[in-house]
Amino acid sequence: MFDFMGFDSGSSEFHQTSSPYLPEATDCMRCGVCLSVCPTFKLSNDEKQGPRQRVNSLRRLLQQHQELDDDARRNLESCVQCRACENVCPSKMDYAKLFDRAGEQLNKEKPINLRARLAFVLLEHKRVLNALLPFVKLYQQSGLRWLFRKLKLVDWLGLKQADAMAASPCLNPLHTHYPVLHPKGSVALFTGCISDRFDRETLHASIQVLNRIGFDVFVPQRQVCCGAIHYHNGRPQTAQTMMRQNVDAFGEFSLDAIIYCATGCGSQLHDYQEILTESDSQIISFSDRLIEITEFVAKYWPDDLKLSFCPNKIRVHEPCSQHNVLKNQQWLYRLLAHIADADISELDDNHLCCGAGGSYMLTHPDNAAALAALKWQSLEEDKADYLLTANIGCALHLSNAYSALKDVKVLHPIGLIAALLDRADAA
Ligand code: SF4
Ligand code: SF4
Repeated sequence: MFDFMGFDSGSSEFHQTSSPYLPEATDCMRCGVCLSVCPTFKLSNDEKQGPRQRVNSLRRLLQQHQELDDDARRNLESCVQCRACENVCPSKMDYAKLFDRAGEQLNKEKPINLRARLAFVLLEHKRVLNALLPFVKLYQQSGLRWLFRKLKLVDWLGLKQADAMAASPCLNPLHTHYPVLHPKGSVALFTGCISDRFDRETLHASIQVLNRIGFDVFVPQRQVCCGAIHYHNGRPQTAQTMMRQNVDAFGEFSLDAIIYCATGCGSQLHDYQEILTESDSQIISFSDRLIEITEFVAKYWPDDLKLSFCPNKIRVHEPCSQHNVLKNQQWLYRLLAHIADADISELDDNHLCCGAGGSYMLTHPDNAAALAALKWQSLEEDKADYLLTANIGCALHLSNAYSALKDVKVLHPIGLIAALLDRADAA
């Protein structure tokens, strides 16, 4: 993760933020509990690719200021940052913060490459990203994509994974306001960097369901990426600027809730107050009103609202950002309980990361594919019809990872709820 497309932070931004809890060697009891939940240890069966050894390397790097050899560095970089180990560690070590700090130090010597520079600029400047989308669409639809794949130019450019995952983008922005006649309240959608153009299906479904349960929906146009990629890859000051911009963009509206549809973004949004460290009423108000879409809909579900029946096998993949960080998945299951006749259960080994891991699926495609294959194996044995997941990164990765199982539809839970509302209305 640290070598996100090989960049060099070239700064010491993290040294200016407050220090996280750093484990002493004696804090690790070497109990090995973390090994049982670590996806990279499961794949490699190598202690060097497990949390216990990584903590040791982090301690040497951050506390003893030792240089790490290439092997130790590679083993740290192969961490998917799923935070499963943090979830079970009896010493309660804060892995996520340790990794954020280590990321900056580890990347100091690496020169930034053009691809990485471009990725950071595009995520930071949504307008520039959106301005390029007609060219992406032209590339996808004109035969250029076929040619680039045939000549292996996408491999040469290092864009094979991104090219395979990119859906056809929507060129028009969402409206700013989706009103209802007699609103119970007003909410706004956080759409992040790419989902308003690449995951319109989920956002339309969210707006439809929110309107249906009685809420006016706003989509602030000035909002930007949540800042997670910058923050977790050694650029905390840039990330903080983006976070501030989001707080300001949502602050322009009078809202009862700020709703996110991707748990990966949500886990970062919930950290704004701690990261921005200012006791600003606007930041506190932003943080207090944050809520994940399935949790909000489950809490405000009207007693008389019925869904169409759905005699299907539905399996739920809990993203790490939900399972290990937000821990709100019980609301998702409460919402799904409104679906009559469905066979709903969590996917086997939900504690295990699917390999998406933010940019991990791009930087470590082999590990990412092996982890996704474990999920598909379980789905195949189960003969499931739907795989639901509340994070766009997991959905893109899992859909792309194993195209042989076309019969299994991968979608956001709110997408299924919206479809069943439509079916109930049509009946
Ligand atoms: S964050 Fe995940 S991949 Fe990294 S050491 Fe912990 S369990 Fe393993
Ligand atoms: S769970 Fe925590 S205390 Fe136990 S071996 Fe892993 S890092 Fe050490």
